[in-house]
Amino acid sequence: MNLLALAGGVGGAKLAHGLAQILPPENLTVIVNTGDDFEHLGLRISPDLDTVCYTLAGLANPDTGWGRADETWNAMANLKRLGAPDWFNLGDRDLATHLERTRRLNAGQTLSQVTRDFCAAWGVKHTVLPMSDDPVRTMVDTDEGELPFQEYFVHRHCEPRVKSFRFEGLSTASPAAGVREAVESADAIIICPSNPWVSIDPILAVLHLSSFISRLSVIAVSPIIAGKTVKGPAAKMFAELGIEPSALAVADHYENLLTGIVVDSLDSELAKQIRIPTLVTNTIMQTVEDRARLAHETLQFIGSLP
Ligand code: GDP
Repeated sequence: MNLLALAGGVGGAKLAHGLAQILPPENLTVIVNTGDDFEHLGLRISPDLDTVCYTLAGLANPDTGWGRADETWNAMANLKRLGAPDWFNLGDRDLATHLERTRRLNAGQTLSQVTRDFCAAWGVKHTVLPMSDDPVRTMVDTDEGELPFQEYFVHRHCEPRVKSFRFEGLSTASPAAGVREAVESADAIIICPSNPWVSIDPILAVLHLSSFISRLSVIAVSPIIAGKTVKGPAAKMFAELGIEPSALAVADHYENLLTGIVVDSLDSELAKQIRIPTLVTNTIMQTVEDRARLAHETLQFIGSLP
């Protein structure tokens, strides 16, 4: 079975890693959100791509889920001393990624080429693709005006109230090299437990999956557990947009796309209200084994669907 996983950052990376522990490289492609990408200190930064690649490579910081393990912060401390903006933390090891990515992009390589080369260097065997080689930038409209995503997410700690989202550049963005082929050869798509609004919606908007879904199973794993997120602002976003955050709201969000959904055992009562096939299981991935177990159960669930 050829599987496509759609992922944002930390939540998506964990399930993608679980799938990568089970599926051979030729059977798994991970398509990653680039709406969070931005330019900072003159560097081209792709936070979700890096989180997924570092996680698959075993290089990710196990405590934060983002950034590198065994990181040091000498460059950041010295940048701060020189008066550079310090609201976005970039560790020394991580900086090497951004420096080299920026050099290559400025020399004319595409983001998918750079990602392929970096994955080879890090020993990532499965295919990781950015959703697009063209810039798409998530803009968050808030009660304090429109903010670029990282300004809202990191600089303002998600404090402004969300009113809507806009994906700048979307109308002219094409799927990255290899993405269309990966969709065409996929038997099933797993929407990882990533933020539906700002991690998955931009990917879905670039992919235009509607013409494929008649022959594909599409399964989402809910990032909302008992009305809350494990981490990040997804539940706050649902609430501020007037929707009660829940696994049911996630199912409704992806409405016409889904063949089935995986929700947490804490939502077993709520699951009875979901009108599509639903797997109820423990979806909290605390360990590497949890990732593989959830991936395995999700694959079995897909296999059981008509
Ligand atoms: P970000 O771009 O780093 O914020 O990461 P994502 O969009 O991939 O992930 C954020 C979402 O992942 C949040 O809504 C979390 O609730 C969800 N998440 C993180 N870890 C887990 C987990 O172990 N299980 C589940 N079900 N969701 C998770």
